[in-house]
Amino acid sequence: MSPRTLTSRMTFRRILKLAWATSLRISGAFWFARRQLARQQAIVVLTFHRVLEDGDFLATNSQSGILVRRQTFDELLRHLASRYELIDLNLGFPATGTSGLRPRICITFDDGWLDNYTSALAPLKSHRVPAAIFICPELMNTPEPFWPERVVRFVRTQCADDGAQATAAVRTIIPDAPVISTADELIEYLKTLDSAKRAQLLSSLTQSHERTSMIDSTMSWEQVAEMSRAGIAFGSHTQSHQILTRIPSSDAERELRDSKAALEARLSRPCTCFAYPNGNANSEVRELAARSGYELAFTTRPGVWTQGSDLLRVPRINIAENKLVGSRGYFSTTMFEYEVFWKAFRVGPSQPD
Ligand SMILES: [Zn+2]
Repeated sequence: MSPRTLTSRMTFRRILKLAWATSLRISGAFWFARRQLARQQAIVVLTFHRVLEDGDFLATNSQSGILVRRQTFDELLRHLASRYELIDLNLGFPATGTSGLRPRICITFDDGWLDNYTSALAPLKSHRVPAAIFICPELMNTPEPFWPERVVRFVRTQCADDGAQATAAVRTIIPDAPVISTADELIEYLKTLDSAKRAQLLSSLTQSHERTSMIDSTMSWEQVAEMSRAGIAFGSHTQSHQILTRIPSSDAERELRDSKAALEARLSRPCTCFAYPNGNANSEVRELAARSGYELAFTTRPGVWTQGSDLLRVPRINIAENKLVGSRGYFSTTMFEYEVFWKAFRVGPSQPD
């Protein structure tokens, strides 16, 4: 199977983006951005979620914005290992780089998906690339632990990917719901609802007796322990993936503290890193993370970390297959540099709210 058939169609927009990225590379813009970031001793943190073999890449119910093919991941790591200084979160954020010439990159994964163990670990080991994984202790070894996969499964299997059917089903519960064309649109709509309404809609749309996909599972604690012994850093992503800005602060503090304690008990090492679910971190939640003993905490806001930036609201660049591949579906350094260095450089260091 050609990789091109696995990624989104070559739309006119994508062709334009590739052409624009190529012209920027030829003009020297990426070279300039990399050099500036290296001079600033910046750290560009990448967010991955899932790394999948091609069969699973097609079968998963996860949204495309969190997927990378294993072959693409392997090619990316080869590129990173040869060209960049890579940060090991077991050692924290070093103030300065060792070379001063190579941009610094830190690889992180959110959620603790099973494929981090089955597909990502071997390439990380073979290219000797450090990485950190943020997990939710209460959601380990669980099929479909997050609701977006259930929504995609519902639209695929019960609505035959037909937006009109999905809209009709949603309107039986919420009569004034908007017209929905795709699973992604339904997920975005569900995010706007309060958690009780969302839970009601989800439980009526997705039946508990339906077969869940084992592809969309999280790792077991044994697998986490094995990866930890292999040098992968682990941090907390709350106990149960609660959006901390939307729950009472006493609950948020419990999520922060209990998950830290669970990780420390399981792995017998300090847990000092944290990733905010959905990236949501206001000043109050940031303060709770500090009080709970975290030294580094990551958002999903794009940008770069530089000396003097907040260690408890570190920006990250989200990575997905479409941000890494060229017109034939293979890893493209031009696309990578456009999506990562150019965008990080354009946004610049994180600013306090
Ligand atoms: Zn997450």
